[in-house]
Amino acid sequence: MKLPYAEPYKIKMVENISKSTIENRIEWIKNAKYNLFNLKSNQVFIDLLTDSGTGAMSDKQWSEIMLGDESYAGASSYFKLKNAISDILGFPYFLPTHQGRAAENVLFSALVKKGDFVPGNAHFDTTKGHIEFRKATAVDCTIDEAYDIENLFPFKGNVNLNKLEAVLKEHKNNIPFIIITITCNSAGGQPVSMQNLRDVKNLADKYNKIVVFDSARFAENAYLIKTREAEYKDVSIRDIVKEMFSYADVMTMSSKKDAIVNMGGFIGIKDEEIFKKATVFNIIFEGYITYGGMSGRDMNALAQGLHEGTEFYYLESRINQVKFLGDKLVEFGVPVQKPFGGHAIFVDANKILQHIPVEQYRAQILAVELYIEAGVRGVEIGTLLADRDPITKKDRYPKNEFVRLAIPRRTYTNNHIEYVAVALANVLNRSKKITSGYKIISEAPIMRHFTVELEKA
Ligand SMILES: *Cc1c(COP(=O)(O)O)cnc(C)c1O
Repeated sequence: MKLPYAEPYKIKMVENISKSTIENRIEWIKNAKYNLFNLKSNQVFIDLLTDSGTGAMSDKQWSEIMLGDESYAGASSYFKLKNAISDILGFPYFLPTHQGRAAENVLFSALVKKGDFVPGNAHFDTTKGHIEFRKATAVDCTIDEAYDIENLFPFKGNVNLNKLEAVLKEHKNNIPFIIITITCNSAGGQPVSMQNLRDVKNLADKYNKIVVFDSARFAENAYLIKTREAEYKDVSIRDIVKEMFSYADVMTMSSKKDAIVNMGGFIGIKDEEIFKKATVFNIIFEGYITYGGMSGRDMNALAQGLHEGTEFYYLESRINQVKFLGDKLVEFGVPVQKPFGGHAIFVDANKILQHIPVEQYRAQILAVELYIEAGVRGVEIGTLLADRDPITKKDRYPKNEFVRLAIPRRTYTNNHIEYVAVALANVLNRSKKITSGYKIISEAPIMRHFTVELEKA
């Protein structure tokens, strides 16, 4: 028999998590205004809200914490991280930031201005937020296959080159850069192929534009290239990563994802002029060049995390745990986005709750019901997240209403994952008895999903 993908680590320390009753949870979620972000962590049993900053650091990363150099300028921790970024990713310049959106804030302050257009593949919410905040427009050029959950195309994060070229032609003087998100979170944690990265870079060169990678899950993207793109079957993860980033001029990174730390981010830059421009904003918003929003100890843990996060056997067990959840859900008849992506399984609430009007936030309903059923917290990736159109102020209805079940790295066992799958199957089995959803009672002007308050419609 083929051996299963056992984790290449064992457990040295445990953290207790809280069980509760259905009655508790009905009360708690009502008090939380039906927004899962408002729950206390001890009201949650298995937390799949996000894979961001929720992973388990290794003993080596914790050792690095003790070795952190907290000097204001020129800390050894800065150089340790600089070397890791240069060796693994190939960027000679870098700026530390406190997390991924801070990297966007600094870089976009240097490059994006009012009236600009920024084409890419389904921009992440903070990325889009930082573009729209500057009165510029994010143009989604993702391939159409991405929105059909049954389409098994292996690289549903890809950019449609015709759509991209049309934008490049139409707005050629108002495009500061093209941004590619690897893996594409908003399209379901879907990877971008090496071929597509290369093609986008060629098109960018033709129009004399730079390419930025939004790189939070670059290592998972590399693993999916290795296992899905034939000519990379025998290429090492490190070599794949190097080639991927050879097609980028700049990268922004949320280290809370594939670098397996709880906090941190950075910008990797190849061009000295862009580095100088961004440095000004880094110093204003984040901190001096050699720490920019991070403590020395955290830069050390991050450098170590970049090494561990790009190891093949780690990535193999990680991606296969995500697949384990996907396979279980398919077995139970739950409609999910296929093929499975890198960090999460996306459940299609439109299919489960089509008897409820889409204006009542189907994916939010499903996420709340899953919480009530079993104390499992997922997150809505649907209309609440898509927010209102900045001009018409009307709700934007995305093609898919997803509940995302994001799996923290090295954190839960497959028993936990099976528990989640059974809980969701139970919700599916009683879904026809759910007859109504929610309406908004209060929301913020931008990125409303974090703080939105709801009541039963
Ligand atoms: C998480 C994430 C960000 C933002 O990073 P934070 O660390 O949460 O600020 C940006 N882009 C992508 C693709 C992400 O997944």
